[in-house]
Amino acid sequence: MNLILLGPPGAGKGTQAEQISAKYGIVQLSTGEMLRAAVKAGSEVGLKAKAIIESGGLVSDETVVGIISERIDQPDCAKGFILDGFPRTLPQAAALETLLGSKGKTLDAVIEIKVDDEALVERITGRFSCAKCGAGYHDKYKTPSKEGVCDKCGSTEFSRRADDNEETVRNRLMAYYRETAPLIGYYFAKDRLKSVDGMADIDDVKRQINAILG
Ligand code: ADP
Ligand code: ZN
Repeated sequence: MNLILLGPPGAGKGTQAEQISAKYGIVQLSTGEMLRAAVKAGSEVGLKAKAIIESGGLVSDETVVGIISERIDQPDCAKGFILDGFPRTLPQAAALETLLGSKGKTLDAVIEIKVDDEALVERITGRFSCAKCGAGYHDKYKTPSKEGVCDKCGSTEFSRRADDNEETVRNRLMAYYRETAPLIGYYFAKDRLKSVDGMADIDDVKRQINAILG
């Protein structure tokens, strides 16, 4: 099963991708995480992407399409994958279609997580994740059951993304509305789009998505 999760930054794509991945045994592919890993590793891609990511802009279509194309050839993607944060532009969506076609793969669903703009800034500025396993948390909406200890792996180290500050969030939202929001119309017109109410609590959104996936 191959899926796309669509929605603005902070909508809950990563949160839901985590649960879908656990339930269906398919891989979560976040281009954001891949790029942040490249920045950390100081690779060629990372060096190019660093300043763009830190300002809230979008890395070039060519770069992310290349990363995804290589990644979905890996054996762990054979059962399926969830694209979280990709495609982010219409050219990327077109490139994805060509790419999947050439690899004999199909897209099974595109799920839009709809959230009010006012909620996004609060969701993003309050989020953090486990430094060891990457599990996502929120100061208000998803705290670890034992304070300071990751539910998943027991680690006591957490981190916050450098670009999760209010100023960068506004730039990221602007990039979303300029470049990514048109994808909702694009997939709707292709009769691919399913939408869920992302204002509901995390478990409810999860139920809505699982009802679509069956
Ligand atoms: P995205 O991957 O779309 O940028 P995240 O999954 O990181 O978004 O979610 C942003 C923050 O909001 C996280 O801290 C997450 O715990 C929290 N969050 C996600 N979904 C919900 C929800 N339905 N209600 C409240 N908070 C949520
Ligand atoms: Zn952890």
